[in-house]
Amino acid sequence: MSKSKGNVLAVISGPSGVGKGTVIKRMFEMCPALCESVSCTTRPPREGEQDGREYFFVTRARFEEMIQRGELLEYSSHFGNYYGTPRAFVEQKLKTCDVILEIEVDGALQVKAAHPSAVLIMILPPSMEELERRLKLRGTESDEKIAQRLARAGYELSKKDKYDYCVVNDDVDRAAERILNIIREEKEVLHDDK
Ligand code: 5GP
Repeated sequence: MSKSKGNVLAVISGPSGVGKGTVIKRMFEMCPALCESVSCTTRPPREGEQDGREYFFVTRARFEEMIQRGELLEYSSHFGNYYGTPRAFVEQKLKTCDVILEIEVDGALQVKAAHPSAVLIMILPPSMEELERRLKLRGTESDEKIAQRLARAGYELSKKDKYDYCVVNDDVDRAAERILNIIREEKEVLHDDK
């Protein structure tokens, strides 16, 4: 994949409950010129989700075909479903804007291995206690699900040294601003490299 006029491919990860979605939403409010990639998944849509907006919802057979044909920039399987980033979609978007991928760590590391110019950013909770508190506050999940998510959070956090940047989400505006600054700085690096 080419660097496409110095536009940045920013890959954002972080454990469930860290507030990734809220921070990314704030980034788009502060900087509407950003583009977000839309992933493919085999999980069924949740209430209110639309095909092509939150995800492209596909069958397992179609997903496996995409793997075979090399149509995915990365993919992983977790919580019993496949998730992957459509290569052509991202390449197209990168021609005109900086692109945000919100994906989990295994996929993020695949992107970095294939495209070292991608910028990996991990959002961290202020502390593990705070993360646990936020997960419980959601109140929508059983203790077993919360325990599963905490175990997964531990795994995700164990990969943080492989990321280019870590940003603590102690305040949504500040975290969004910090990530936007990282993207601006990386853009200058890409331009300087040309
Ligand atoms: P959810 O099912 O709650 O929407 O997402 C579950 C997990 O899948 C989240 O950790 C999210 O970051 C991850 N995810 C979403 N899209 C992708 C993708 O394209 N590739 C990978 N590897 N993970 C993804």
